[in-house]
Amino acid sequence: MQEHYRIGLGEDIHRLGAPRPLWLAGMEVSPSGGAIAHSDGDVVLHALIDALLGALALGDIGDHFPPSDPAYRDMASTLFLEKVLPMIHQRGYRINNCDITIRLERPKLYPFKQALREHLAKLLHVDIEQISLKAKTSEGLDAVGEGEAVFCQVAVLLARQSVPLSL
Ligand SMILES: [Zn+2]
Repeated sequence: MQEHYRIGLGEDIHRLGAPRPLWLAGMEVSPSGGAIAHSDGDVVLHALIDALLGALALGDIGDHFPPSDPAYRDMASTLFLEKVLPMIHQRGYRINNCDITIRLERPKLYPFKQALREHLAKLLHVDIEQISLKAKTSEGLDAVGEGEAVFCQVAVLLARQSVPLSL
């Protein structure tokens, strides 16, 4: 792969209601009402990982961390990210920017937005200006709107290490 840029798109949805914290972008945003999932159910990190893998046509999160593997049970998704980032860097790419949309009814994420961006920037080893994060609801429609699910979509642009950041 010699392209200057590679774009990736990822999305994830989990049902809510597990008796554990709700994790988003590696942060606990609620002590209860967590995502029902094999791992910690962090939709932001799962969608982000799919976007990163997708940008380099490396498959998806399930190919690399199969839910059938007991090793990944209740695993913190930050550990998945720590395994995926070197795959990007080893192929000569880095993150130019990523644009994230989370849809959740409760808790309202607006007060967490800046902290989530800062935390993601730290996890990805990038500046906060490279991370866009939008927190929306579903206006009472669909499973998210009824408070039964949390959804996230992530677009990411990877650039060759030799290409200057475009901001
Ligand atoms: Zn997931």
